[in-house]
Amino acid sequence: MRLHWHRTDLRPFDNRPLVTVGDDPILPVYVFDPNVLAHAAPPRLAFIRESLAALREWYRARESDLLVVRGEAPTELARLADAHDADTVSWAQAYSELGRQRDARVTERLADDGVETRVVHDHLHHEPGSITTNEDEPYSVYSYFWKKWRDREKADSLAAPGADRLANPSTETPLPTLDDLGFDDPEASTPAGGYEAARHRLNEFCSAPIYRYAETRDCPAADGTSRLSPHLAHGTLGVRTVHDHVMRAREAAPDDEARESVETFRSQLAWREFYHHVLYFNPEVVTENYREYENDIEWRDDDEALAAWKAGETGYPIVDAGMRQLRREAFMHNRVRMIVASFLTKDLLLDWREGYDWFRRTLVDHNPANDNGGWQWAASTGTDAQPYFRIFNPMTQGERHDPDAEYIREYVPELRGVDSDTIHGWHELSPDERVAAAPDYPAPIVDHSERREQALAMFERARGEAD
Ligand SMILES: Cc1cc2nc3c(=O)[nH]c(=O)nc-3n(C[C@H](O)[C@H](O)[C@H](O)COP(=O)(O)OP(=O)(O)OC[C@H]3O[C@@H](n4cnc5c(N)ncnc54)[C@H](O)[C@@H]3O)c2cc1C
Repeated sequence: MRLHWHRTDLRPFDNRPLVTVGDDPILPVYVFDPNVLAHAAPPRLAFIRESLAALREWYRARESDLLVVRGEAPTELARLADAHDADTVSWAQAYSELGRQRDARVTERLADDGVETRVVHDHLHHEPGSITTNEDEPYSVYSYFWKKWRDREKADSLAAPGADRLANPSTETPLPTLDDLGFDDPEASTPAGGYEAARHRLNEFCSAPIYRYAETRDCPAADGTSRLSPHLAHGTLGVRTVHDHVMRAREAAPDDEARESVETFRSQLAWREFYHHVLYFNPEVVTENYREYENDIEWRDDDEALAAWKAGETGYPIVDAGMRQLRREAFMHNRVRMIVASFLTKDLLLDWREGYDWFRRTLVDHNPANDNGGWQWAASTGTDAQPYFRIFNPMTQGERHDPDAEYIREYVPELRGVDSDTIHGWHELSPDERVAAAPDYPAPIVDHSERREQALAMFERARGEAD
């Protein structure tokens, strides 16, 4: 018997460790570990729970079952291996430091009982260390990484295991509720979880929107991106399945422009892998700046400003729309993530770690690699980071990417009756004009031009360049 420990691979299809390890009957298991739950949050847990329910149904339809247990992973897996006479436990490789440390503890505990562990790369096409510079170093610049990633052959997706390979455990374990796990229900309405929802989303995106992706991906109102991020983060889709579909879409592309658009989408998948490699080789980036400055960056401490940012009450319409989309959907459009992250670090002058922590608690697609990569990019502390002197102007960003203020009006109801020019010129209005236009919407909490100068000075001091 082999236990397969599902973690961020909540699917039966295209799951390398599930199907490629040995011939023994497979007994699938999921562990709610308090050490992992300490870093969890309601939106992600709701999504995980729904995905587990779907996965369990899949196994049950094949007269097997997914065992779901609560407790510390080393103890629970050793207990289950003993109870079910399993001599092997398989799982997919983790890339974060915390995950790798936890897995080492599990391996050690199981080895004490003579149980073998099989850890298989699964979440990325190309594992860390396989795409390197000519000097065999991991890349710190995305564009070079992308060229190699793009040209490297990708493995095909894999079928699910046949029913004849699955064990039929006699015990049924209930799926705990969020309340059982000590969490409230999420405030946001989270996207549908589960492998079927994931495949549906992928099919839909690859049937047409992918051909306009390059054109629409920066317009939050167009909603032209794939929304596959929760599925990639929690593994309700395998990366090979995504890539197979994308390549089929490329073959079927009606013209060169559509083909180019597919390639733009592929380059986003490569960003995901790039940031996973960065995290793997630099585990400290979860809490530390990737890029070293001569002096500490003197981030401000301002609880009131942080609270306004979290609530979407900054008086900068595109920022507030993004922060409220996050509250409502546990998701935010990529362009707007860049804008709100820039606003937190370069306008409010607050530490990127504050923003990262909020995203960790509120995003359904949070994963340390992408989230950290995004934050450090915006804060000019990361690998390919935005240079410190290129500071987004939130008003210009709003005007450029949401010219008709459709996205803003969707998420900021106080501005629904207001015309686009007034919305994009909100910072220039007098107090009386603001009250006349939208009495319930706040005035800007900071002056962008002043803060821009302060941000430049802050970074120049960090670079040791200030007088
Ligand atoms: C401050 C900040 C925080 C972020 N936090 C996360 C996070 O916690 N989890 C997360 O998955 N993404 C994160 N991103 C990256 C990006 O915003 C999301 O992946 C994207 O918005 C998800 O929507 P989508 O699936 O429709 O993306 P699409 O545009 O359809 O892209 C397809 C997939 O490519 C990957 N991808 C796209 N853009 C990026 C990127 N810039 N970096 C890494 N991978 C990318 C994602 O897996 C995404 O699902 C963050 C970006 C920023 C600026």
